Amino acid sequence: MSEKRSEISQLGEFGLIDRISSNVKLANPTSLKGIGDDAAVIHAGENCLLISTDMLVEGIHFDLGYVPLQHLGYKAVAVNVSDIAAMNGVAEQITVSVALSNRFSVEAIDALYRGIAMACENYKVDLVGGDTTSSSSGLIISISVVGRANKERITYRSGAQVNDIICVTGDLGAAFMGLQVLEREKEVYLTNPEMQPSIEKYEYLIGRQLKPEARTDIVYDLAEAGVVPTSMIDVSDGLASELFHIVKNSGVGVRIYDDTIPIDQIAYETAVEFNLDPLTCALNGGEDYELLFTIKKEDQEKIKNHPDIHFIGYTHDRKDQNVLITKQGNVVPLRAQGWDHFDAGANLPEKE
Ligand code: ADP
Ligand code: MG
Repeated sequence: MSEKRSEISQLGEFGLIDRISSNVKLANPTSLKGIGDDAAVIHAGENCLLISTDMLVEGIHFDLGYVPLQHLGYKAVAVNVSDIAAMNGVAEQITVSVALSNRFSVEAIDALYRGIAMACENYKVDLVGGDTTSSSSGLIISISVVGRANKERITYRSGAQVNDIICVTGDLGAAFMGLQVLEREKEVYLTNPEMQPSIEKYEYLIGRQLKPEARTDIVYDLAEAGVVPTSMIDVSDGLASELFHIVKNSGVGVRIYDDTIPIDQIAYETAVEFNLDPLTCALNGGEDYELLFTIKKEDQEKIKNHPDIHFIGYTHDRKDQNVLITKQGNVVPLRAQGWDHFDAGANLPEKE
């Protein structure tokens, strides 16, 4: 008897998660939010616990050819803390699980945990447990994080209302350009090991790729300003992809303006150098770990002078009309390219 076999690549990562979650029912009244946001929300008295987990796999998420283990440890913690920040919460504890092949020495694991410890210190998070096992090839690192937030302040992907203002922090596309530079230098090195990499110009971009920071500062700044976003998500897959998560979960449409999308000058120049469109990189690059959120119109005044919060557009009532408006006034449908780990062929289109 032949059983039907369907390829995961046809569903994609999000399709697979949707399929898993459609069969999951929450039985405990304390499970306030399950699958489908940056973190799960668990009732715990006056506050809520926030729980999220992320796995990094060698060869898929990182290449130890140019990622130092210490940076990898730091980044693995930062991306988890970022998921808690995206719920408007504060991370407090992590557990770290590693699977190691015999390729790794004790010193290598020391370096990984030095990075983890640095991030824990920086974000004031305690490492409270984990698991250690062996792997047949390569390194896998999985981190779970526990955070906390007041119930009234938790921000979901689903809370955006019509006529909210769309905000994003920092700048976008630099981490992606950092990756392009690292990949290029690796190629150069492989063809000619005598060549010294020329990376000074790209220091900021490489830093954004290797050592991203979670925007915990924004969570504090918003609280200070008395603003609770109506919805929030962190930019891990790319601005366009994250906007579509808000569209899907909140049932609103989005309209953004190309000249408001924050792009770092060096990232812009480097994209041009790589024959890529800087705006496409900012919209789809991913791994920036900035925060994307919506606020009520009347709250704009409270954060309008924040140097690192940019107003990039509005929500409206047509969830099927998600557009980018160019400086020239052209209206372009937004497309989400994002990262799909099940589609190895996925790549950004070259500049026209
Ligand atoms: P993020 O990009 O913020 O890390 P993901 O896209 O990985 O989020 O996950 C989206 C949602 O799906 C989250 O709520 C996550 O907990 C859930 N999820 C992802 N993979 C699984 C899985 N294998 N089983 C159950 N839930 C999952
Ligand atoms: Mg997330």
